[in-house]
Amino acid sequence: MSKRVDIKTGFLCNNNCLFCVQGANKNKGNRQKEDIFIDLKKAKETGCIGVVFTGGEVSIRNDLFDLLNYAKKLNFVTIQVQTNARRFYYKEFCEKAVEAGMTEFAPALHGHTPELHEYLTRSKGSFNQVVQAIKNIKLLNIPIVTNTVVLKPNFRFIPQIAKLLISLDVDQFQFAYVHAMGNAHENFDNMVPRVSLAAPYIHKGLQLGIDAGKKVMAEAMPYCVMKGYENYVSELYIPETEIRGTGKYTPNFTLTRKNEGKIKFSQCKECIYDSICEGPWKEYSEKYGSDEFRPIKSK
Ligand code: SF4
Repeated sequence: MSKRVDIKTGFLCNNNCLFCVQGANKNKGNRQKEDIFIDLKKAKETGCIGVVFTGGEVSIRNDLFDLLNYAKKLNFVTIQVQTNARRFYYKEFCEKAVEAGMTEFAPALHGHTPELHEYLTRSKGSFNQVVQAIKNIKLLNIPIVTNTVVLKPNFRFIPQIAKLLISLDVDQFQFAYVHAMGNAHENFDNMVPRVSLAAPYIHKGLQLGIDAGKKVMAEAMPYCVMKGYENYVSELYIPETEIRGTGKYTPNFTLTRKNEGKIKFSQCKECIYDSICEGPWKEYSEKYGSDEFRPIKSK
């Protein structure tokens, strides 16, 4: 798999999601363009061939097109923008972003209705904006890979969200189990569902995508809660990634995620997936324990 760099461009955002992992980091503001240029050059030197611009919200920067252009000049093969997609509501903005160098569009959609999505983003009009953004980008023929965070208020609607994404003809969709940091940690009781309750809905959403010929996956879902869908665990497909722009360089995010972010349990030693499974986010088990994660003894 090809190596990529995730560049955090800063922390400002025009949404205010109830589950945002950045939480109080928002006060740190956005980074200087020149510093991001340096990061891009360094990432080239370490052999990255893909770049993911992420935030905060990168599209509210007035210099987004400069960043894309610079990444294009450095010959990154894939240039992805992870975004809440609100500014991509405007067709001209989409055209300019693709012209500047964006090769992959990665919007976030957390509900199948304005009420649900906007309850979670706390931003009126954001549902219509992301839906229109997907329609706009479709016309520009670059891949659309979406992310939906699995939360207490939306998990029962994951199949409906999948249906919406299929009707919008996105290329790939992912359901990412909420990571209880930042606002999601503050709002834990209202935001973090039990994985055993959410899993059947996630499986149904994945199946709808599979039947429609879409590439689908679920993140931060250990194999023991993905029975029948073991091949759709995102961690199997996430490329080697370095992270720049958080204040501390992370040369191998897979290792950091495994060693510092996730947790395994004593019963995992009896599980056939022990060697490849990362386990759930550790904040999940700090609150809910480990009973839902039962070792798989045979396939
Ligand atoms: S029992 Fe442990 S090793 Fe096995 S799938 Fe579950 S979390 Fe992973």
